[in-house]
Amino acid sequence: MATTPVYLDHAATTPLRPEALAAITAELGEVGNPSSLHASGRRARRVVEESRESIAAHLGVSAGEVVFTSGGTEADNLAVKGIYRARRGADDRRRRVLASAVEHHAVLDPVQWLGDAEQADVSWLAVDDLGRLRLEWLEKEIAAAPETVALVTVMWANNEVGTIQPIAEVAALCAEHGIPLHTDAVQAVGTLDVDAGTVDSLALSGHKVGGPHGVGAVVLRRGLAVEPLIHGGGQERDVRSGTLDTPAIAGLAAAVGASMRDRGERVERLRELRDALVADVLATVDGVTRNGDPHDCLPGIAHLSFEGCEGDALLLLLDAAGVECSRGSACSAGVPQPSHVLLAMGMDPVAARSSLRLSLGHTSTRADIDRLVEVLPAVVARARRAGTAR
Ligand code: PLP
Repeated sequence: MATTPVYLDHAATTPLRPEALAAITAELGEVGNPSSLHASGRRARRVVEESRESIAAHLGVSAGEVVFTSGGTEADNLAVKGIYRARRGADDRRRRVLASAVEHHAVLDPVQWLGDAEQADVSWLAVDDLGRLRLEWLEKEIAAAPETVALVTVMWANNEVGTIQPIAEVAALCAEHGIPLHTDAVQAVGTLDVDAGTVDSLALSGHKVGGPHGVGAVVLRRGLAVEPLIHGGGQERDVRSGTLDTPAIAGLAAAVGASMRDRGERVERLRELRDALVADVLATVDGVTRNGDPHDCLPGIAHLSFEGCEGDALLLLLDAAGVECSRGSACSAGVPQPSHVLLAMGMDPVAARSSLRLSLGHTSTRADIDRLVEVLPAVVARARRAGTAR
């Protein structure tokens, strides 16, 4: 009889919460475009606006500042490219984009693209060996010529190693010079105390909080100029066009609400489980190192390096043993690539490639960890026999 795999990849996507499922299914049978003026349209509009208000209240902003998107990637793209273009359009000296070196590809790639295609002058901000932004670098970069900075983008918490960034300090520095700050809070919303009112722009994603895939939002401070990327019917304040996905938006709001309500208890439970996972793995297998900030860290993430192993081999052997996790970074054309996050933290490429991200979420249990620890020694021994590619 096939057993259900142990799921340790909640940072990639976490199961739908029952509250979200109920909200989505209630809407799926309904008709009505929220932009239509008739009764069915107005009913759908009401659902969308109540969802917007609820999300805004949980994030400490006003409803008019929440723009629905197709997920975290679109939210990040809209913020990074849209703010850059608006700022540069208003003053052509503003060509610099300051971005942390550990951003998710949803920010990293649009920033790089602005450098290649729109002559943005990009500076990657260094992090320390725990993955934490070095504020003095940001300070230096801004002070060099504040009037030339189009925007700063620093994620709230890292998706690979879990390190939480000093967002309040970054926001204060940016505010001092009137420079907009975008933060990718995809991993933070629903888990950390996120007050979106402290930044100018913030991205969130449905499927990371127990909502559906393919929906998210960007919170844009009132008065912040942003050039749209998608043109059309002008839904979403003319910043983002496209018929709104009412069921998904209702599911997103339900998931955000549910994750805010049980946040305190869940975070405490996740932290305990994660600490037990790390302690048990360290006690069971030799040559394991924990990466990231052990204190200022997302409660559900354990990022570990296994000396003498290839991360991909570990991942596939664990999968075969019924445990699902992630490398936390992409593979390019079948060739294992060291993660840009780990390299930015100063790790050598071989150690970086030997790493795994084990991430817990709202459905995780102690039994998941017991199963991991049961299968891990044999998996690591086998991966070590296969060795590392150089
Ligand atoms: N930003 C971070 C930090 C993420 O972890 C992810 C997803 O892995 C994204 C952005 C992209 O979000 P989405 O999957 O909704 O496009």
